[in-house]
Amino acid sequence: MKKHYKALPNNVLIGQRNWRVVVSNEKEHPELSEAWAYYDGAHDEIIVRDNMTAGRLRIALIHEILHAIRYCTMNEAGAIELQGEEEDVTDFMMRMEHYYIFTWAEPLLIVMRNNPKLLKFLLSKAD
Ligand SMILES: [Zn+2]
Repeated sequence: MKKHYKALPNNVLIGQRNWRVVVSNEKEHPELSEAWAYYDGAHDEIIVRDNMTAGRLRIALIHEILHAIRYCTMNEAGAIELQGEEEDVTDFMMRMEHYYIFTWAEPLLIVMRNNPKLLKFLLSKAD
């Protein structure tokens, strides 16, 4: 496994749920044959491919974290409940979610990297 995977956290806390970050391949997780990564809300896991560059790994991880945040918000707060909706509406919304995450994830990482003062301000807990 490439050395940048050693810096990958084993867990990501999202709300009250501790999501395990699993490094795997398409033999163990066939879903990885069509994706760099995916989230499994039923098991609080984010599964990432074991052969990505560091840059692609970062993008894949933030992408799945954003999906997982929505999953936790919907399922814990019950603010939006897609399961009861028509299947085509749910499918459409999931595709739109993926589209927007795909659009914003990498540029967001670049903005954060290029603006350390902004990042410090955004992450501050001071009132
Ligand atoms: Zn996606």
